[in-house]
Amino acid sequence: MNYIIKKEDLPKFLEFLQKKFDQVIVPAKNKTDATCFQQYSGQELFLETRTDFSAKEFFRPAKEKMFSFKKKNSSFNVEPCFDTAKRVIFGIRPCETHALHALDVLFIKFFGEDRFYSIRRKNTVVIALQCSKACENGFCTSLGTSQATGHDLLFFERGSDFFVKVETEKGKELIDSKFFRHTSDALPSADISCKNSLDTEDIEENLYANFNHPVWKEESERCLSCTSCTQSCPTCYCYTTKDEFVFGSDTESERFRFLDSCQLKRFTEVAGNHVFRPSREGRLRQFVLHKLSYYREQYGVHLCIGCGRCITVCPVKISLVEIANKIQKHGLGAKK
Ligand code: SF4
Ligand code: SF4
Repeated sequence: MNYIIKKEDLPKFLEFLQKKFDQVIVPAKNKTDATCFQQYSGQELFLETRTDFSAKEFFRPAKEKMFSFKKKNSSFNVEPCFDTAKRVIFGIRPCETHALHALDVLFIKFFGEDRFYSIRRKNTVVIALQCSKACENGFCTSLGTSQATGHDLLFFERGSDFFVKVETEKGKELIDSKFFRHTSDALPSADISCKNSLDTEDIEENLYANFNHPVWKEESERCLSCTSCTQSCPTCYCYTTKDEFVFGSDTESERFRFLDSCQLKRFTEVAGNHVFRPSREGRLRQFVLHKLSYYREQYGVHLCIGCGRCITVCPVKISLVEIANKIQKHGLGAKK
């Protein structure tokens, strides 16, 4: 079933959602002019293209409390701290719905549920917004992620209206006749043309075969280990945990989970002071192979959705696409 809503009615629709959900999350500029997802409070939305930072914060936050511990006599009470807020996210781009799918595979389907993730995921209604133009550095069309997946409603911009496609029952419940009218018009085109393209043919095989290709050293010599790439990436999930005492108490403590980064030497330090990936070359290669080879081999989907954020934010312009295309050109040694 398809509907139309006037663009001028979008704020009223978001206010209507605020009455139904604990949080309505939208794309907008932050204090530093970066674009990211944040709680709606009447601010101007950023709907031109994808945001600088992804919506990962609402599924895998940079910092989350996992457990609180309380000493009781000679033992401890352990309480998990689940985030049970009911959310609706408006304006996620199609590529990012694929990021959620890639994370679902790991955190819900493959090894059983990571409940800190799965509770947030199940309590969130996803309203995707189709791109009408390619974003800076994006290459979603090469990875088949330019059409949304697993969302509840899909909005298309169409002149002064949004055309809305209902995908699930949860989505249908949000169609309020005050703002939406039914339409039998054909679905608008969802075709975009990205400037960047990634040759994906045999990419896993070629990346493995070129483990010692000079491109890793050449590119990593510029890397600053700043971790901007992994922070902005919608699928990077590596983390570390830390226990902290509750200030002023000698009987209570809390466990936190923090996003970490494979681009830091410290991240690869294990017991006995052994650092298993000491060079930037090795860490950059790990990033690219995890995105385009290892994850797909383990879980059947790429961990890269082609959003291009890591390229945009990199201060020294290291590009996963350029690296991978260089390797692809070399192939198994036969292609030139
Ligand atoms: S690796 Fe880069 S292009 Fe791929 S999903 Fe992450 S940020 Fe986007
Ligand atoms: S953003 Fe660029 S410089 Fe920073 S860690 Fe990533 S690849 Fe290195």
